[in-house]
Amino acid sequence: MRQRAPTLPVDDDIQKSVRLLKEGRLVAFPTETVYGLGADAENPDAIRRIFKVKGRPSSHPLIVHVAHRSWLPKLGSWVPPSAERLAEAFWPGPLTLVVSRGARVPLVVTGGQATVAIRVPNHPLALRLLEEFGGGVAAPSANRFGAVSPTSADHVRLDLGADVDHVLDGGSCEVGVESTIVDVSRDSVVLLRPGGISLEALESVLGTPVRVETESPVRTPGQLPSHYAPRARVVLAKARDLPAELAALRAEGARVGALIPLEIERPGADIELVVAGGAEAFARTLYASLRALDAERVDVILVVPPPAHGVGVAVTDRLLRAAAPRSPST
Ligand code: AMP
Ligand code: MG
Repeated sequence: MRQRAPTLPVDDDIQKSVRLLKEGRLVAFPTETVYGLGADAENPDAIRRIFKVKGRPSSHPLIVHVAHRSWLPKLGSWVPPSAERLAEAFWPGPLTLVVSRGARVPLVVTGGQATVAIRVPNHPLALRLLEEFGGGVAAPSANRFGAVSPTSADHVRLDLGADVDHVLDGGSCEVGVESTIVDVSRDSVVLLRPGGISLEALESVLGTPVRVETESPVRTPGQLPSHYAPRARVVLAKARDLPAELAALRAEGARVGALIPLEIERPGADIELVVAGGAEAFARTLYASLRALDAERVDVILVVPPPAHGVGVAVTDRLLRAAAPRSPST
């Protein structure tokens, strides 16, 4: 394992991160969702490095992180009332708003698109970094393209090693799955990716139904069939089918890890991770659990997802993508 960098006092750590970002380097930083791989959103060369390090196709746009919602009209060319309302209700928080792109945002950030995705993360270190940097920081999740997102500084160091210039360590991520993405650039509001803010919460703030579009005309990594995937094969099961699924996998000679809510009877898999505390706890520990089971060299990860409401919808979405047939890029 790589040696950890000596821990700096927080002020020095922030100053170092700001200086590196201004030099066009890459800084991984904690948010409440997952760790981001950040670069100065207004420096096209720095943005190109993100795509290179991640192995991410350049057509897949990045989210720009800012310290405050006053940045919306600076980075977007037109901010509709629905965006203002959602930003006021949920920022800082796990909600990304897609608005028309302002001239300050280079096309390389948006994968050539006329829209830009913007978010104010709810993490004290991220907010300090963004305030002191004084601009937008474009950041996808700090992992290689298609792999499991990092929810701790150690995950980032293990995945990206020396390819990231600095890792700001803020402990484990509170939400644990990526932000909800909402497109407010069209006539009606559209949910592009479920996340930490539920559909019901969005609709209650807007007072209107929100359309869900899982297959966007925009090609987004979060919408590729196989994404967020560990090395082991992921199989989803209902609680009542668990014993039969396990028996079938055992018959194939597979070493099986199980990831299940506490309420479910333990099936007797080779390794079992039990999650207490409902969908929130499942979301918070999901990626670390997938990594832990990979580290146990299981062939298959058998998962009973939490009920699909609230953040449970996002957990199920990520698990379905992790279970999808693998494309060569993942
Ligand atoms: P990640 O790489 O996990 O941070 O994911 C970022 C997500 O934001 C991806 O699914 C992107 O495609 C999505 N995104 C960023 N910009 C836009 C945009 N302009 N329109 C639609 N989705 C976007
Ligand atoms: Mg990602």
